[in-house]
Parts: sequence; structure tokens; C-alpha cells
Amino acid sequence: MTRTVYVNGEYLPETEAKVSIFDRGFLMADAVYEVTSVIGGKLIDFAGHTARLERSLSELEMGSPVTMDELLAIHRELIAKNNIDEGGVYLQITRGAGSDRDFVWPDPEEVPGGIVLFTFAKPLLNSKTMDEGIKVISVEDLRWGRRDIKTTQLLYPSFAKMQAKRAGCSDAWLVEDGFVTEGYANNAYIVKDGTIITRQLSSDILHGITRAAILRFAEEAQIKVEERPFTIAEAQEADEAFVTSATGFSQPVIEIDGAMIADGKPGPIAKRLREIYVEEMLKTAI
Ligand code: PLP
Repeated sequence: MTRTVYVNGEYLPETEAKVSIFDRGFLMADAVYEVTSVIGGKLIDFAGHTARLERSLSELEMGSPVTMDELLAIHRELIAKNNIDEGGVYLQITRGAGSDRDFVWPDPEEVPGGIVLFTFAKPLLNSKTMDEGIKVISVEDLRWGRRDIKTTQLLYPSFAKMQAKRAGCSDAWLVEDGFVTEGYANNAYIVKDGTIITRQLSSDILHGITRAAILRFAEEAQIKVEERPFTIAEAQEADEAFVTSATGFSQPVIEIDGAMIADGKPGPIAKRLREIYVEEMLKTAI
């Protein structure tokens, strides 16, 4: 079955979908995005994703070509058209196609933003990485300073992921001034003496939608949370380490830069939080 995608107002087979070569998303990564997971054909934490999308757009003074209600309808239509039971929806909004490669932003009243959505099918609930855990390496964080805006400038995270792959690992943790900022595409945590430690929110990291939910559920489950930076050395001495993201939920980290975390087995807190997360998020899925 050919996948149906959504491009600038039209539902099209993916083979027929086109965007302008002058689109600023293509030329300048002048675009923001969201990835929302789907379980049982329903969207997980859609409200969280649209709130962050609106913030990303506003921080970049970018308009949206659709309202948030229209966006929900498009997400649902694509899930139905592509029969997605488990997987996700990728959404990208660009500043549109202005004149050639102008560094000055076009007037949003004159140049409409571009919008692209596509679905992907992927098993999320039965996760091999949950059972086995993942290995990470540390890489210097050389991204720009507004990581709180979810832009499509993903070259550096992709570079970090390649270094991880070459080292036989699946993930990279990014380090700035000696402290972990976050994972290449997830938020990073350690657990010591029953307390979850994760970097506080600022423009240094993406404000993960899963992070917000996981920390809320942790506090509800009486697990202590400390929001502060931590080093790789501290992480290697931790009782447990894990990462969170919309499609990965919480995933245990079992090795950092070749050092085993505790006994090298997935830790109980990451597992418990994953169970709570899935159970709670399914209640509000739409
Ligand atoms: N940090 C970065 C750099 C990311 O790219 C992502 C997800 O893409 C996350 C954190 C996790 O965010 P969320 O939980 O909203 O998926």
C-alpha cells in the first residue's frame, strides 16, 4: 500500500508529494517539527505537542498555515488513511518559499508557511531496548544555543549519532562545559539512591514532552526528582540511567563510554516509569 502524506493542503501518495526547492525549510532548515506517537490508532499527548509547536513557532516569529484544530484533524485523517495502529506522525512547518535565499524573513502575510505531515508504523510497546538497554557514548555538544526550539537543524545530532554507531553504541549523550545537556534525540537522566537527576529546563535542552510527563508521574509515585546538571563521571557511578522521548517512552541506559552502569542490566525505575507512562498516557490518547 502506498503511504498517503499531507503536503500544503493536499493528501497525496508519497510518490507524488512535492515541495518547492525555494522552501526555506529545504534551503535553511528554517522549519520546526513535532513527532507524536500513536498507540491503538490514537495520538499520545497531542496537547503537549501542539503547545510546544506553538511555542517553537512563536519564538521564531513564524505563522502556522493551519489552526491546531485543523492539525488534529489532519493527524487523524492520515492515521486512518494509512491504517496506523502503532507508530507516529511527523509534522513539519516551514517559513515557506520566499525569494531565492534571502536571509531576511519574508512577511508571513505575503508568504504562506509550508506544511508536511507523514505517518510511520513502528512497534512501540514491545521494545527490545527496554529489555536489553542501550549503550551510549559522550560527544561534545556543538549545537546552536536555542535547543529549546524544536527546529529541523538536525545535522549535529545526526553527526553525533554516526559517532555512536561507529563506536558500536546506539545513542550519544551531548556534553557542554563538562555537563550532560541531553541525548542526541532524547532527554537524559540518572538515578542515585532513589533520586532521579536530570538537567533543569533552559535554552540548553529541548523541553521534552515525555520528560514533563515522566517527572510528573515520578513525583506522583513519590520518587524524588532533582533538576540539575550532572557529569559523565557521575552518570557512570549512578545506580541507573535512562533516556526519554515521545516514541521511545523511557529507555534504560546500561553503558556510558564503555563503563557499565551498576550491574549492566536495565534499572527498575526506568521500567516502572515506562509502565506508568504508557498506562496513564493511554487514558488521555485522542
Ligand atoms: N531532546 C532532543 C534533542 C530531542 O530531539 C528530543 C526528541 O526528538 C527529545 C529531547 C525528547 O523530546 P520528546 O519527549 O518531546 O520527544
